[in-house]
This record gives sequence, structure tokens and C-alpha cells, in this order.
Amino acid sequence: STSTTTTADTNSYAVGMRTMINGPITTRFPPEPNGYLHLGHAKAVSFNFAVARAFPYPPPSTSSAAGGGVVGGGYLGGRCHMRLDDTNPSKEDEEYVRSILEDVRWIQRGTGGGWNAVIDDDEGGRGGGGGGETDDIADDDTGPWYGGVKKTSDYFSLMYDAAMYLIESGEAYVDELSPEQMREYRGTLTSPGVSSPYRDRSISENVELFRNMRAGMYPDGSYTLRAKIDMSSPNLNMRDPVLYRIKHESHQATGDAWCVYPMYDFSHPIADAIEGITHSLCTLEFEDHRPLYDWVAERMVRGNLVKCLPRQIEFSRLNLKYTVLSKRKLIRLVEENHVSGWDDPRMPTISGIRRRGFPPSAIRLFCERMGISKSDSNIDFGILEDCAREVLDEDCSRAFAILNPLKVTVTNCDGELENFEVPRHPKRPDLGHRVAPFGKSAYIERSDFFDLDGPEGRDNGGVPPAGFKRLLPGGRVRLKYAYVIRCDEVVRDAITNEPTELLCTMFPETRSGATPEGEARVKGIIQWVEASTCTKCRVMQYDRLFVAEEPGRESGDFTTDINKESLRVVEGVVVEPSVAKDAIDMIARIRNYGTGKKSVDKPYHADLAYQFERSGYFALDSSSTESDLVFNRVVTLKDTWNA
Ligand code: ATP
Ligand code: MG
Ligand code: MG
Repeated sequence: STSTTTTADTNSYAVGMRTMINGPITTRFPPEPNGYLHLGHAKAVSFNFAVARAFPYPPPSTSSAAGGGVVGGGYLGGRCHMRLDDTNPSKEDEEYVRSILEDVRWIQRGTGGGWNAVIDDDEGGRGGGGGGETDDIADDDTGPWYGGVKKTSDYFSLMYDAAMYLIESGEAYVDELSPEQMREYRGTLTSPGVSSPYRDRSISENVELFRNMRAGMYPDGSYTLRAKIDMSSPNLNMRDPVLYRIKHESHQATGDAWCVYPMYDFSHPIADAIEGITHSLCTLEFEDHRPLYDWVAERMVRGNLVKCLPRQIEFSRLNLKYTVLSKRKLIRLVEENHVSGWDDPRMPTISGIRRRGFPPSAIRLFCERMGISKSDSNIDFGILEDCAREVLDEDCSRAFAILNPLKVTVTNCDGELENFEVPRHPKRPDLGHRVAPFGKSAYIERSDFFDLDGPEGRDNGGVPPAGFKRLLPGGRVRLKYAYVIRCDEVVRDAITNEPTELLCTMFPETRSGATPEGEARVKGIIQWVEASTCTKCRVMQYDRLFVAEEPGRESGDFTTDINKESLRVVEGVVVEPSVAKDAIDMIARIRNYGTGKKSVDKPYHADLAYQFERSGYFALDSSSTESDLVFNRVVTLKDTWNA
């Protein structure tokens, strides 16, 4: 606030200008709305928000004197701007804008940080409360999350003026070379470039031509505005880069207001400078664009167009094995119907992994674990899966689901249902209880019974596999939280001879909670689902989407490496009644969201996730209806339970 000058205030360029002296760290996440965000973007989102949060302002030592910057008694973190980098009307779409904002909000869910708001480490302050003030992204809300989404297109007139400033200082000119000629004139790494014959137009001629370009007098591709830098620079980016091109195309945000659009290398440093970005964090492929970034930014400051000189700092991209992370490739997967859509749970898009059931905290943990560096690395998807297991293990309710059911009839049960109150989580009493009814019939997992008298028994020499502790003909097992049962008789299919039902005896004295003695002492404990109250549903099991570590590396076309067996649909899965009840509640919550007070985070189907005991982590799929529940397997359990 010490260096704002009156010239700046009376200058039209002062719009949106900020003084950065002693200001907080300011970063931005600037995706182009030309596709859905993917896990690579999640790395950039996490990094930018984390950097902003990491540096409190004012620093603690000066806080007592500073006073004014302190909200709610806490220190302010830095700021992270959400900016849509919308400079190319041909590839951009409102649908992408909507999805990007939704995805970024979701990645940050629960951190208390919102874009563009001052991030407040003190709970309940500005930007806090999970940012859930709105449910509707199109809403012109001024809440901490959506208010103040920035767009590069907001600065189009400033950028036009900035271009004029360069023309007037003799540092930009209007060119007429075709793209092919331009490429030819540019030269190569080993040969210097050749100047365009239009390089030495007079300033007034350039001014007039650029005005005419803007006025729509010329067709696409006929003229460009180029920076006049150095045609013999060893850095090709400095050989008179194009700053503006003509495109007679409607823009998703500015409509038909413009027919000239700035190039990334010109617009990005200007947008950063206008917004007072202190650290413009970007991926390494922009490293050799940095001299151009600085060239533009320095001139903006020199011309008194902006006060802040932002710095570009590069970090390495995220590459994931067995998948692709590029909007261009992801678009092909969708358009060629290799997947069901952007949010197909096999997709590495944010919407895909959200639908699959990866929680946002797992994504953030993953980004934190990978760290930030300047060296390229190929990360194993398994690391993300491990992060998901960690988070889900801690937060998820347990439940019983039987993926491949085998019927058990308890012959000595009177048929009355007995309700067992069982914990939702073994270590988290705060998650409460669920009710598991027990009665005369139940389903158990087919693999929890070893058919000694059937083909599998014969193949195994009439003995169970080593270490098998579950149910055998004549053997005993504990139905978890209920009773020990003994298998007395196997009912078989008349034709296939496959077991269709087990007739069992229960031992009432082994009721869960009673001191296990005698009959109660069994080694195997298995999950089960009561048959008359269970719900049938469908489970989707996923494998990696590609069979090659680096898809397309051998064949040149990544689609040839698609895994044809990446989806397995399991029908006829049965779940305990508490699951169906939770799912129906969740579906209702989602349907009603937005009709009442806008005070909670937008709910997603996958927020309902379970550890289906001994099977893995599963989340409710967004295609679910009350009468047709679908669960996605998020990840398997790390270790199969040795029962
Ligand atoms: P893509 O190559 O998938 O089209 P992009 O870099 O063109 O991605 P942008 O919309 O420009 O996509 O990206 C917004 C921000 O996200 C940029 O700052 C970019 O550097 C960052 N980003 C994109 N992909 C990755 C990645 N794989 N790892 C880390 N950051 C990424
Ligand atoms: Mg880009
Ligand atoms: Mg791109």
C-alpha cells in the first residue's frame, strides 16, 4: 500500500491493479476450459492452494503491529486465485467451465480454503466452513468459493491496450506472413531466424493495422501482432513471438465482443501481473517461455500498466503409469466411446475418480506424498490407491455385502428376526451403530464354504486347502456379530451338483458378546447378510484402463493399449439393510440439494462409501436409483483377511 501512485490511479490500466509491497503470497490455478480436469491438474491445484496456505500474512512476528490484516484473531494465509484461462474461443465451452469449478471446489473440500478469498487458518473465518455457501455454479454468488472466479477474458481490453503500448514503444508490429512462412522465417535451434519483411513498419502504420484487426476488417489468419524481440535469439520463443491472432469466433464468455485474441505467452504474464500473483507456478514445459514471460511482465511494469512483477516458477508434471493425462487424449477416449463419459470411474479425470469413490482428502494426500520437484517421474497408480485405503479405512463405515451369495438356512432358528446393533467402525465409536437383523436364512460368500464333497474337494484330495478356516461340510464358523453355526447338510443342484443351500444349526449360547467357550471356539469368522431383509444390487469392479505402462509407446496410438477387461459387472450382490437405507437417504439428499438452505457442501453419491468387510472399499455410483443400487469398487483391501 506504500507505492500506489496517483498516476496509476488516474490511469485506465489501474483497473484491477494491486500493490504487492508487503502483501501476502498469491498464487493462481489457471486451467483452460477446453476439457475436464484430471489428476495432473489436481497436483497443480493442491500445490497452488498449499503454497498460499503455507505463508501466513502478516507473519506472526509483525502481527501485533499489523492488526488490520487479522481476521477472527488468526493469521491470514496467502491467496490462491481461480482463473479460467479462456483465450481460445474455438476449443472452449461453458460445460468445461462448470466442471472445472466443481472439480476444484471438490478437491479442496474440507480444507476450509476457498479460491480468491483470503485463506484463513482460523476456523470460522473468511473462506472457512468448507466453502459450502452455494450449490449452483452458475450462481453469481459472492461467497468465498464462487465469488471472484477470474477469467483471462476479463482483461481483454487491458491486454489490447497493453499491446497498443508495445506498438507505441516500437516493440510490436503487425505481420502478414502466413503460419507456414512464419515457421520458415523463424529458423531452427541451429540456424538464426530471418526477419519478416513487415518487421519495420512505422509505428503509426502498426497502430492503424492493429486497430483494423480489432475492428474486424480482416479475415482469420491474414494478420498477426508480433513482439519485436530478437530473430537470432538461441531461444526460439524469443524470435518475435505472436502476441495476437484474428479469430472471428464467438467466445463462451465475451460473445462477439472480440475478433482478436491474445496468445498464452502474452496474456498469462499480464493476467498474473494484474492480479498481483507473486508466484506463477507452472509445469516444466514452460521453462523456456520464462524469458518471454519476463519480457512481457517487465514492459507492463515499465509502462506503468501494472505494479506487480510476477515470477514464473516451474515444477514437473504428474505422469501416471497405465493411464494418460492429457485433455487431448481424454477427449478421444470419450468421443470414441472407449469409456462411458468424462466421469467414467476408470478415467483419471477428477469427475471419474470422484464418481469411483476416491475421497478428495486421498487426492490431496497423494499430491502431498508425491511432493514437488523439477524432475520428471512416472508415478504408480498404486500410490493413489494406498492413499485412498488410508483415508477410507479411517472414515468409512463397515458393512456386510455378499458378492457371490450362497444361501444358508438355520434349521433350529424360530424364524423371528433378531436385531444386532453392530459398530459402524471398529475404532470409531463416533460413527455410531448399524442394525443387522439375523434370522432363519442368510447369505454367505460362496468362497467361504469349501465344498469337500464336490469337484473342488476331490481336486484337492478330499481335504480343505491349507489354512482354510471357514465353513466345511460338518464344520463350524462364526457369523460375525451373531452366532456360531455348523453345516449339517449341503443341498445341491440336481443337474450341476453345485451347492445351492447349506442347512445349518446355530448355537444360541455362542451369541456374540457371550464368553466364547466350547462350541464357541471356532477359528473362522465370516460376513453374512440376512436373506429376507437384504437388498440386491450391482457392483462394478475396475481394473486399470490400459495394459501398457506408457500407453501408445510401442504402437504410437494409445487407444491400442486399452484394457478390454477393465470393467467387470457383478450382478446379484446382496447388501445388509443398513446399506440400502443409507443409499436411499443419500439419493434423496442429492435430489433435494439446492432446494433448501444453501449451507452444506454439494453431496455426491460416492460420499456414501463403505468397507464391505473382507471385499474392499465400495462407493455408491451416481447411476443409482432407489430401486437399482450400483456400487463401484474404489480399491481392494490391502490384505485379504485371513479367516
Ligand atoms: P493438458 O496437457 O492435459 O491439456 P494443460 O497443461 O494444457 O493440460 P491447463 O488447463 O493449461 O492444461 O492446465 C492448468 C494448470 O494445470 C497449468 O498450470 C498446468 O501446468 C497444470 N497441469 C496440467 N497438467 C498437469 C500435470 N500432468 N501435472 C501437473 N500440473 C499439470
Ligand atoms: Mg494449457
Ligand atoms: Mg493442453
